[in-house]
Amino acid sequence: MIPDRTGDKALDYLIPQAMEDRLAPGARVRIFVRSRLVLGTVVEVVDTSEVKNPKEIHEVIGGAPLIRPQLLEIARWIAEYYCCSLEAAMACVVPQAVRKAEVTALRRNHVRVVHTPDNEELEALARRAPRQADAMRAALAHPDPRPVSELATTAGVADAVFRALERKGWVKVESIEVPRDPHGGESFLPSHDLELNAEQVPALEAVKEAVENPSEAQPILLHGVTGSGKTEIYLQGIRHALARGRTALVLVPEISLTPQTVERFKSRFAEIQGQVAVLHSHLSSGERHDEWYKVHAGGARIVIGARSAVFAPLDDLGIIIVDEEHESSYKQEDAPRYHARDVAVLRARRENCAVVLGSATPSIESWHNAVKGKYRLLNLRLRVDDRRMPVIRVLDLRRAQRGGGGDAVLTPQLLQAMEKRLETGAQTILFLNRRGFSTSMLCQVCGHVCKCPNCSVSLTFHRDVAQLSCHICGHNQRAPRNCPECRDPGIRHSGVGTQKVEDTVRRVFPKARVARMDADAMTRKDSYRQTLGAFKAGTIDILVGTQMIAKGLHFPNVTLVGIINADLGLHVADFRASERTFQLLTQVAGRAGRGEMEGEVVVQTFTPSHPAIQFARHHDFEGFVEQELELRQQFGFPPYARMVLVTVRSQILERAEFTTQTLVRRLRESVPAGVVVGEAAPAPLEKARGYYRFQTGLRGPAIRPLARAIQSTMKGLSLPEDVFVAVDVDPVQLL
Ligand code: ADP
Ligand code: ZN
Repeated sequence: MIPDRTGDKALDYLIPQAMEDRLAPGARVRIFVRSRLVLGTVVEVVDTSEVKNPKEIHEVIGGAPLIRPQLLEIARWIAEYYCCSLEAAMACVVPQAVRKAEVTALRRNHVRVVHTPDNEELEALARRAPRQADAMRAALAHPDPRPVSELATTAGVADAVFRALERKGWVKVESIEVPRDPHGGESFLPSHDLELNAEQVPALEAVKEAVENPSEAQPILLHGVTGSGKTEIYLQGIRHALARGRTALVLVPEISLTPQTVERFKSRFAEIQGQVAVLHSHLSSGERHDEWYKVHAGGARIVIGARSAVFAPLDDLGIIIVDEEHESSYKQEDAPRYHARDVAVLRARRENCAVVLGSATPSIESWHNAVKGKYRLLNLRLRVDDRRMPVIRVLDLRRAQRGGGGDAVLTPQLLQAMEKRLETGAQTILFLNRRGFSTSMLCQVCGHVCKCPNCSVSLTFHRDVAQLSCHICGHNQRAPRNCPECRDPGIRHSGVGTQKVEDTVRRVFPKARVARMDADAMTRKDSYRQTLGAFKAGTIDILVGTQMIAKGLHFPNVTLVGIINADLGLHVADFRASERTFQLLTQVAGRAGRGEMEGEVVVQTFTPSHPAIQFARHHDFEGFVEQELELRQQFGFPPYARMVLVTVRSQILERAEFTTQTLVRRLRESVPAGVVVGEAAPAPLEKARGYYRFQTGLRGPAIRPLARAIQSTMKGLSLPEDVFVAVDVDPVQLL
């Protein structure tokens, strides 16, 4: 048994006889540690113990063990592979709301009729107490208990009226458990399987084969341009798994887990709508609790969810789908730093089911696996209905600015293209991966830049609230009127954010209906849905946004996509910078021309000849990866080497630096041959949230020996106070 938040030290407890049949590895229990009652997880049931007089387990939570054996095995694998404690790995397998056992089922007062009055009785009541009679009629209309609030609304009376009826002995008001259903009250029109086109047919065949015979099938990599009908393959693949009595798990990036996406699945499987569970972070902890328990109790055949849904407690898995498999949000950035795509592939192998990774721009890692023959590659090269790929025009910002005629934000060519759309009633999307108004405030006289006091980044100006804010730690302060350093009033904004784009568009096209979609504009739970709804309905002409609008959205009337600055991600010190830029451009471009009209994409850039931009422009994924793989091989980057990044942080700079140096020295002594341990160096993000950060990167041919060396080195190292070490295996963010 491992108590929560204690690492890996298992303690022995006695199983009281009454609990014997409910206790198995994976069960959640309450136990006394010293004299405090805490939660813990059973990891093993043994016959004997070396502990004298072990204490008894106090209480078991739930019926069947909350972590089923397959998932407990996966947690063990995660602990070993990603270098974290088993306790931390087990913690991510079950949602917090369930694990803490604090949320309880939701109960609502219901009315049950216990005496059915005859007409005479009712009329007598109607004369004396007409409201009570109305309430009684509403209750009589249902054979089963109904919620008090619902009946009160129907009858147009106050809830208390039912209490009066209860006192008469005609009804009973009782509290009944009701599941919280985040999609309650919505109904979905059924949709039918589409007839597949010539490219889709063999792809679906391959998926079906894998469902039929998973032990012999390889993971499938479904590479299909946006709009090529990948989702249709998923839907029909799922149908096949369901028909064989099995279940399906669909992972999508958090950002694409939109009402649109959920609706597509619920509509297709309308006949089992109630058995489609959705797990994502916008749910309240109560809703999450209930959805999870529904799956746990076998009440779901299909689970759709973001990263952590890879641990959904489904039995009889027939197929796992990872849509947009290249998305970096599948990687968890806190311990355990697992990658949901990789866990999905592992889970599929363990549970003997098919796994399909889909993307228009597969990750270099997955592509490499396909090239090596580890994954089976399926291609969809054409858009459904032979729609053309959008035309991509690259505009050189250097020239635009030298010419002086253009706006710094929107080139004349882009403005012209937008104007044409406004005239014809078509819609435009403008994309910029940076929120706020301007990215920094810079004094023209002394050169002072307003920086975050806690992080090594400059503060972003948000004009609507007249504040400077830090996008790393959330620090906010009033925007100064004068330079805080030299008091000069000439402090200026530099760098462009989405707010400034919106502002410029409104100024240039005062009659256009403009909306902005980014984390600042979308603070309310519904604003996302509302803005998308309005855009879909055509009451917005121009939508400005961050990556929120880059993914998976489908608007037939959008014929123009403008990418304000394609260079944003290119100049960061990250070997994936090029890959990310290519992916982003391709995804954003995919939003254009999804209807009858041909789409156009305008890419503004300072580096028009960059390969990521040029290959994206020609829709040439394979050309891009070929070149990129060559570079990776040349420089020994993943996928040709495996990588672990160790980051040390402390509020005291010297401690972080010294610990990293010690770590590097010890690691070099213990790693096997062929492994390179990099120098201790300041992290690219040198300071975050008040902590100084140092790093070392390890590279070698395989993860296992690296992970083992790190774990044994860490065990033998006692960290100074206020020093924390984060181990990131297969890192995605190199900050
Ligand atoms: P992707 O997931 O690759 O972006 P989708 O599956 O969303 O592509 O397909 C794009 C559009 O084409 C959707 O509106 C979908 O309903 C439609 N579609 C997909 N397959 C077919 C088909 N075989 N026949 C007709 N329409 C299809
Ligand atoms: Zn900060």
